[in-house]
Amino acid sequence: MKLKGLAQEDILARLGYSRRTLVDGFSFVKMCELEFLLGTPAEALWNVDPVDSEALAQARKAFERRFCTAEAVDWAQRFPIRELQRLGHIRMTEGLTFNRKFKSGLLPREIMKFMGVASLDGWNKAYSVALETVNPQVYSAWIRLGEIQVARPSSDFFISRDVIANNLKFLRRNALPLKENLRQIVVDTLRKCDIAVLQVPSFIMAPAPKAACFWRGLRPVVQLPTGSASDGEFMESVYHVMGHILQSHSKRPCLLAPKTVAGVIATSKNGCVEANRVAEGLLMTEAEECELICCGRFAEKACIEFFSRRFQIRPGIIVSRLQQLKKIRRDSPLNALKMAV
Ligand SMILES: [Zn+2]
Repeated sequence: MKLKGLAQEDILARLGYSRRTLVDGFSFVKMCELEFLLGTPAEALWNVDPVDSEALAQARKAFERRFCTAEAVDWAQRFPIRELQRLGHIRMTEGLTFNRKFKSGLLPREIMKFMGVASLDGWNKAYSVALETVNPQVYSAWIRLGEIQVARPSSDFFISRDVIANNLKFLRRNALPLKENLRQIVVDTLRKCDIAVLQVPSFIMAPAPKAACFWRGLRPVVQLPTGSASDGEFMESVYHVMGHILQSHSKRPCLLAPKTVAGVIATSKNGCVEANRVAEGLLMTEAEECELICCGRFAEKACIEFFSRRFQIRPGIIVSRLQQLKKIRRDSPLNALKMAV
């Protein structure tokens, strides 16, 4: 089934099912879930026998009850509801009591509709990248804002990983004189490689994510928060998600967002280690990194400026790399060499 630009795998995830569960026992409740997810009445999707109408009506009632459970109410409350309402993605509920807003199932239903999931399991499966973050609801909603902006390309669409890698190498060398224009040039370059690049404002309820990537069919999507970042961190984040796109044939998504209250971003799962390796190699080669470390005077501004000229690389990227390698502190005065982009 291919409806509304959703692929079968995606539909299964959003229903919260494995392929087997859907095939094994098709029920009226499953019909209701698909009806909700696709926004098309079950009668239009299947030939519902008139004798089954009553069973379908019962199933619809049972389906609606899932929005009123304590679990659904608790889940829904953690979403950036006011902001989603302001953006017009969910219905306004001004003046309504807590019971009318939540316990009636109104907001849990609206949110599941916006997220494009038919159950909490569906949300867990479709947005598993957000589950370990400080606020999974907020970050999944941020990804969703991007998802709904990108259409699936036709099936003959393809990207060239070689062209992308060459562009990223070129970009790194030529990023030096770009100053604060860097962000726009990076975005334009990726778009020329047929990657959808979205800049989506983050929600105020949680610290801004750094970047995300996911796939719409065969099209890779890079999602960045609006607002400024330092050039070093901006390039690291972009190259990290590009590392996923370059090496991921399984099309796994990645979300770089604070995973603990301390704001640490863990990158251990979902191919992040390999993505990081690809990204680091593209931003600064192993030989360059070696030369920099071996000079031993990397904590000096003059040294970083020297290597910046020698390698044709922005000082901010060198400082960020040294911080990644724990050679200099996160709060080093060398941060002054970074530039906001
Ligand atoms: Zn990653």
